[in-house]
Amino acid sequence: AWARVKRRLRAELGEDVYASWFARLELEAVDGGTARLTVPTRFLKSWIESHYLDRVLTTFRAEVEAIARIEVGVRGTGAPTRPVTAPGASRPSPTSGPLARLQASPQPTPVAVAAVPEARPAEGGDLNGTPLDARLTFASFVVGRSNALAHAAAERVARHEGEGALYNPLYLHAGVGLGKTHLLHGIGHAARESGRRVIYLTADRFMYGFVNALKTQNALAYKERLRGIDLLILDDVQFIQGKSIQAEFGHTINALIDAGRQVVVASDRPPTELEALDERVRSRLAGGLVVEIGTLDEALRVSILTARLQAVRTAHPTFEVSPTVAAYVARAITANGRDLEGAVNRLLAHATLTGTAVTMETAETAIRDLVKNREPKRIKIEDIQKLVASRYNVSRSDILSERRTAAVVKPRQIAMYLSKVLTLRSLPEIGRRFGGRDHTTVLHAVRKIEKQIGEDAVLGDEVELLKRMLQD
Ligand code: ADP
Ligand code: MG
Repeated sequence: AWARVKRRLRAELGEDVYASWFARLELEAVDGGTARLTVPTRFLKSWIESHYLDRVLTTFRAEVEAIARIEVGVRGTGAPTRPVTAPGASRPSPTSGPLARLQASPQPTPVAVAAVPEARPAEGGDLNGTPLDARLTFASFVVGRSNALAHAAAERVARHEGEGALYNPLYLHAGVGLGKTHLLHGIGHAARESGRRVIYLTADRFMYGFVNALKTQNALAYKERLRGIDLLILDDVQFIQGKSIQAEFGHTINALIDAGRQVVVASDRPPTELEALDERVRSRLAGGLVVEIGTLDEALRVSILTARLQAVRTAHPTFEVSPTVAAYVARAITANGRDLEGAVNRLLAHATLTGTAVTMETAETAIRDLVKNREPKRIKIEDIQKLVASRYNVSRSDILSERRTAAVVKPRQIAMYLSKVLTLRSLPEIGRRFGGRDHTTVLHAVRKIEKQIGEDAVLGDEVELLKRMLQD
């Protein structure tokens, strides 16, 4: 039942909201009428409690009516607080715990709730397909090495260029969060703008619509309608299952393609691996252009993040994230675009809840559970010197030299400081590795940088970033 609750939440709130707040929500126990849920961080807990607790309860009750109360706890720590009870009972307001602290902050920004993109448009009527998300356009899609081919194919299909049959069907596949749905919506928008009749359906929606049509004896009308369009877009076809439905799915795409209409499909796997589908359907799906979208490299992650931050800033002009923090986030979050999006939502929520600027530290707290845990790495002094040198546009030999110009002294001192905090080397040893300097020189550098970090937030962030780059 829990899996179904999560599925419902995902469908009701939309992929973005779900990924930002609920993907890591787990059911710990059901105890009488109380469902105990857990999340990995206090921040997630307070956000879910303050924004989504009623929603979770309602959704839970839709699956398991006996549930009257939801409690959210933080995994690996003490007991949950602030339960929410079913309608009728009054809800206690938060007077303690992290949320109360956050709310008691001196200048709360009043936009906290509106800050996070709310659920995408509600799912549409059966025959009309799923509405397109206005945000997911070609214009907002960032092209990089791993998605350039998919993007180019998508644009051609959307523009309906010549060699149609070559691209029919267009089959995009990739792991989660790599931009499949974004491209499909982009195609949908562009094709509609040029006046073509487009239906976009998720696999769930396709199945649901078909089953409904059967129930109401409208199956023929449903099929007719699907076949009377110019472009059919089907998302997440790996979920299509059931004998009659997959047969209908097969007939539908065959009929469309044979009539010269365009079909676009996305899936988390290549057509050959769609085990639930009949061999003939699979080969039909493989018969057009099959393109894989690869994982996002760091450059692409930075671009996506920057674009997203910029978009958010139009609605929240006071929300600022320094390039250093953005670089950290893009480096830390390697998995996919959805987690990047989630990270932006988290940063925004943090900033609006606390009314303070996003620092490296708040960023780290906000995205902690989105970051893959890595083995701590053994860091070499030489690597520190190389990295710091390159970051400050000097050479490693400058750092080791006797030169005392400010352009060299500062990176040298930062490198000494990092050597002290990131390695187990003694001060004399560090001195020796910095061109044979005395340990008091190293100590002086360490103290000086410590002091400056305390006074200068920009330098603080900069040093944090260097640390993280070394620890990666
Ligand atoms: P998928 O359907 O492959 O699971 P989505 O299309 O839903 O992934 O992408 C997840 C999130 O990442 C969305 O918010 C999407 O806008 C964003 N995203 C992914 N790739 C890109 C990209 N190249 N440019 C801009 N945003 C992207
Ligand atoms: Mg998708």
